[in-house]
Amino acid sequence: MNKIGVFLDRDGTLNLEKEYLSDPAGLELYPGAAKAVKELNKLKLPVILVTNQSGIGRKMFTEKTLLKIHQKLAKMLDIEAGARLDAFYFCPHSPEEKCRCRKPKLGMVEKAASEMDINPKVSYFVGDKIADIKLGKNAGGKTILVQTGYGKEEENKMKEKPDHIAKNLLAAVKWIKKDVAAG
Ligand SMILES: [Mg+2]
Ligand SMILES: [Zn+2]
Repeated sequence: MNKIGVFLDRDGTLNLEKEYLSDPAGLELYPGAAKAVKELNKLKLPVILVTNQSGIGRKMFTEKTLLKIHQKLAKMLDIEAGARLDAFYFCPHSPEEKCRCRKPKLGMVEKAASEMDINPKVSYFVGDKIADIKLGKNAGGKTILVQTGYGKEEENKMKEKPDHIAKNLLAAVKWIKKDVAAG
């Protein structure tokens, strides 16, 4: 199976980084983020959200609240651009729990790969943190750092460079589009 997917980080990539967002009302999309997702929909590339939500493990909010946030996120993407995320995966654990799904570990990617028949080695990984880039490298795919959220700070701290650095998600998607077309 050689299906390409796009693994997207949430906070700092799609929506503004707000440190443990725990209220759907606090969700704010970056300008162009909904349009970026819509572009991926048009390219028929599955868009897979992969997000570390240790606020659940730290008892700052519940899984039920997270699901409400994701429903609101889906609604905002739809209203703004008719855009759709094909799947939502989250790691609810705190780092101390030493789970297998907290990025940069591959648990969520492996689950998505098997459930959605996607090959991570031909897929794209977009995020604003070193963990997102490491995730993509661990999966054997192509990695793009966005300079939104923590992106600029993280860029200076990175040892292993991503395949591309983009100013925001829309610019990242433009790069993906070209890269896919180049085969
Ligand atoms: Mg992030
Ligand atoms: Zn986990």
